[in-house]
Amino acid sequence: MDYQYLKQFLSEERQIVITTHKSPDGDAVGSSLALRSVLVAEGHNVSVVVPDQFPNYLMWMPEANSILIYENHQAEVQELFNQCDLIFCLDYNTLERVGALKSEIEASDAKRVLIDHHLFPDKNFDFSLSDTSASSTAELIYEFISGMSFTDHLDKDFAVCIYTGLVTDTGSFRFSSTRSNTHLVASELLKLGLEPAIVHQNIYDNNSLKALRLKGFALNEKLEVIANSKAAIIPLALKEKNRFKYQKGDTEGLVNYGLSIEGVEVAVLLSEEMGFVKFSFRSKGLIDVNEIARRSFNGGGHRNAAGGKLDCDINAAIRLVKTELEKIDYGS
Ligand code: 5GP
Ligand code: MN
Repeated sequence: MDYQYLKQFLSEERQIVITTHKSPDGDAVGSSLALRSVLVAEGHNVSVVVPDQFPNYLMWMPEANSILIYENHQAEVQELFNQCDLIFCLDYNTLERVGALKSEIEASDAKRVLIDHHLFPDKNFDFSLSDTSASSTAELIYEFISGMSFTDHLDKDFAVCIYTGLVTDTGSFRFSSTRSNTHLVASELLKLGLEPAIVHQNIYDNNSLKALRLKGFALNEKLEVIANSKAAIIPLALKEKNRFKYQKGDTEGLVNYGLSIEGVEVAVLLSEEMGFVKFSFRSKGLIDVNEIARRSFNGGGHRNAAGGKLDCDINAAIRLVKTELEKIDYGS
């Protein structure tokens, strides 16, 4: 990242669009809103655009209502891309991850800045802060803000947004991606007045009853342990989700229950939608679910957390996942 050039570029008022990936998660939304708050304080005109709806459990975030959802505001977003000087690409490594926003970004003449922690980032960005050893994009936003010497503008709302990214991408500081710097950043956020208990409550203690019952149903009736008790799958058919009036975000965290079983090293949530199935992979240790997701599920992510999507029904998806999980070398 050439901070000097970007600083020069941002020394006059700019039109900036911040983008993130489809099905935005806590890191995507937190990173975007945190960066927005600092760039607005620096005097720029900043919009956050996401490809599709973000989940209910992030609605409480400061300035979340300023986020433009491309699916619902296409003309407005197109206009923003026509006029903007700079596009930030946060928490994704390739434009394939932003769905229909891809063509809008490609059509724009604006410079592109990538800030991301996923493996194998594309090269077609003007500036890149890509660090696959970072816990989260939020951690890298903090590094970026420091590199740009924008630290005068940091406030509690900024801290809340960064902290949400750290917490959601590290499973509350427990995944192996948590490093010394992750805690150092968290420490700086506390100095800004952040109240961790409130953020945790907002993220995790806002379950709807129906979402909790869906998780209960999934664990009671759908969870299956296979591959010599080394792997767990949780398949959810569309009609089962409908029974619990499923909304985006209702299965958040569910896959981790599969991984929490003693001896289980890989867990997969299969969630059927209209015409396709979404996969969430989690693993312990050296088992590389990113590689499996890339090879067989049209997806990717990180070694211990990855996702994918296939155009098939839930039964075909279950068969394929079982075949793949049986093939893994789990060691002894
Ligand atoms: P989740 O299971 O929470 O949806 O995603 C876990 C990780 O996999 C995240 O880092 C996310 O960015 C990545 N991921 C999820 N779905 C996809 C996908 O369809 N394609 C790719 N390339 N990555 C994905
Ligand atoms: Mn992330």
